[in-house]
Formats: sequence, structure tokens, C-alpha cells
Amino acid sequence: MAQPRALRDLGDLMDCTICLDEPASPIHNCANGHIICGICVDKVRKCGMCQTDLNVSPFAERLSRQFEFKLPCRNQNSGCNEVIAASEMKNHFQNHCYFRDILCTEWKTERCKDVKVPLKEYSKHLQERHKCLTPPSQCFTLKVPTATDLFGEAGLSIPTGILDQDGHTFLLLSQITPTFVYFWMTVLGSKETAEKFMFELKVFATLESGKKVETLWTIPVVAFHDRPKYLQDSTFYAIVPVRTVKEFGTLIEKGKIRQIRFNTSYRIF
Ligand SMILES: [Zn+2]
Ligand SMILES: [Zn+2]
Ligand SMILES: [Zn+2]
Ligand SMILES: [Zn+2]
Repeated sequence: MAQPRALRDLGDLMDCTICLDEPASPIHNCANGHIICGICVDKVRKCGMCQTDLNVSPFAERLSRQFEFKLPCRNQNSGCNEVIAASEMKNHFQNHCYFRDILCTEWKTERCKDVKVPLKEYSKHLQERHKCLTPPSQCFTLKVPTATDLFGEAGLSIPTGILDQDGHTFLLLSQITPTFVYFWMTVLGSKETAEKFMFELKVFATLESGKKVETLWTIPVVAFHDRPKYLQDSTFYAIVPVRTVKEFGTLIEKGKIRQIRFNTSYRIF
């Protein structure tokens, strides 16, 4: 951070006694003047040095605003390069940073209960704990509960697909409804990273006659933390009608278990 020396010294004087960084707002202190930043204060009840109560420090806040303290994002080590005003840091860190922890939402094989995973380790978590898929070409199998109600049963879904490419980790997500199967591609990174990539999904089959048929979708990649609500906006989804799945899929019956299998491949470019 390039700031005049006096300012730097002032910044050092105000360092948080817990994380040792320049403090994000709302800056707190104890009766003895020990500073605790607005992020660390959520983890403690009393001053760690003298065990007295903590309150917001209007004076430290005024100094921080007066001198326009700017801080590198707390997630710098995970890849965030943003430098943010101290007053905005907490909001950025908790709500907007593309490198903040991820609440694991994978439930298709096993559900994690409110587990937070650093963005950088999410791919590993998905593979180790949830046995998620990695190959970019795969055959999806969907259970068919009854002859008429193809996808009516709750809980049917396709595990997250993982693809490492160009130094980034991409996750293929999906959602199944009674009428459509939605696919969308996310990147573990920022919006700017996502904008560099497109996602192409192909559903294909070879008919009995030997004729090959395929349907192709090309859609933008989105940042994982920006994933769209799947029914609201169709721009970011490959929306495969269930009738296409039926057309392109093969019905497999093993005793009482009925499944439909269809082939897809995808790529990112
Ligand atoms: Zn702190
Ligand atoms: Zn203290
Ligand atoms: Zn950040
Ligand atoms: Zn998990």
C-alpha cells in the first residue's frame, strides 16, 4: 500500500490487536485503547489483552475515514486483489468478495450441514466428500419413478461436475424439474474471470437407424457466487426439455428400477 510514512505509522498504531491488520470498520476499542477491527469483533466478547468490554470507537472511525484508509482484501491469499476502503471492507469480505468461503450446497450424494469451505478448497471438498464427477464427457443416469412421471420424485439430481482448465476450477451445476433439466457452468473466481469464458453443452445420441443426433447450447460462464436463480433468467442456463432427454436417452429397466440414461459432453472456451 503506497501511503505517506506518517499515515502508515498511524495505520500501524491502529492495527487490530487480533488479526494485526489495519482495522476494518466498525473499529472497536476497550477502555485501555486496544483496537479490535470490525471483522474480529464478531469472534470475541471482550478485549483479548485486558478482558474489558469493547465499544465502537468514534475516534478511530473518524481517523480511518479522514485518512481514507484502504486495505487489501482479507481474502488476498485466496486470490482477491481488491483494495477496499476500511469502511467497506466488512461488507465486501462477508457479502461480495468472490473469494469468500462457500457454504457447501452439494446434497446429491450426501448433505453437508452448514459447512463453510474456502473457495480454493471447494473442488477438493466436492471430490473427497461428495464423490463429485470430474470428466467433461459423461453419461447421466436419471431414475424414473413411474412410467408417466419422469422426474417427479424430489431429490433426483446430477452431482456437480468439476473441470480444471486454464488455471481455473469450473463447476457444472444442474437442477431437475418435472419439465426441464437445467445446466449451468460456474467458475470459482470473480465475475471478470467468468466473463472470459463460454460454456458449451452437447446432448447426443445414436438412433437405432445409426443416425447421429445432437443438440448444442452455448451460454456464458458465471462466477460461482453469482449463480443465477435457475428459473428467473434463462440466459445462463442450458435448458434441456424433458422430452429431449426422453428422445435422446435410453430407458434401462432392472427389475423395479427404471432409469433413463443420456450422453452429454461439455467444454469451456
Ligand atoms: Zn482484526
Ligand atoms: Zn484492552
Ligand atoms: Zn475480496
Ligand atoms: Zn459439502
